[in-house]
Amino acid sequence: MRVGVLALQGDFREHADLLTGMGAEPVLVRHADALRGIDALVIPGGESTTIGKLAERFELLEPLREVVRLGTPTLGTCAGLIFLATATTGPSQIHLGLLDVVVERNAFGTQVDSFEADLDVSGLADPVHAVFIRAPVVAKVGAEVEVLAAVGEDPVMVRQGNIVATSFHPELTGETRIHELILRGEG
Ligand code: GLN
Repeated sequence: MRVGVLALQGDFREHADLLTGMGAEPVLVRHADALRGIDALVIPGGESTTIGKLAERFELLEPLREVVRLGTPTLGTCAGLIFLATATTGPSQIHLGLLDVVVERNAFGTQVDSFEADLDVSGLADPVHAVFIRAPVVAKVGAEVEVLAAVGEDPVMVRQGNIVATSFHPELTGETRIHELILRGEG
């Protein structure tokens, strides 16, 4: 199974390593050509404004939109969630606009840049140990969006059709169940 991993900036190597360990074949995506023939797509964490600018510069915005709109199971983590979203609550930046949510960036404040929590995730039997790094929360969800996990009242994992997105980083903890969702085509 070929999984495209957007490799413009951020922790794409961690995603690629995790996918290799799961028996999938990661394909680093820096050009639209690399999207051809992929069975699933991952958009990593990092810095969402940088990922957006680089995707525009490398003419990847429309090709990425096309692949996701065609139904390719897609996972976005942290900055990947922000990039997939419609908008942020803050200054405007480049989005794919495929996931009908408004995101608040760095929502857990600068005092608590990073933290870990055990999360109940809808559909998974055991909690997910989640690492949050300058993480966003989903401030508004559209009608088609299902909330799969939350910290308090704040959604931190959502699904819309073929897209799954998390505020946290399953790729940093050896957690495979979130990536399995897209490998099984349940994204
Ligand atoms: N704070 C970053 C952003 O707003 C996301 C952080 C991350 O991906 N770990 O883009």
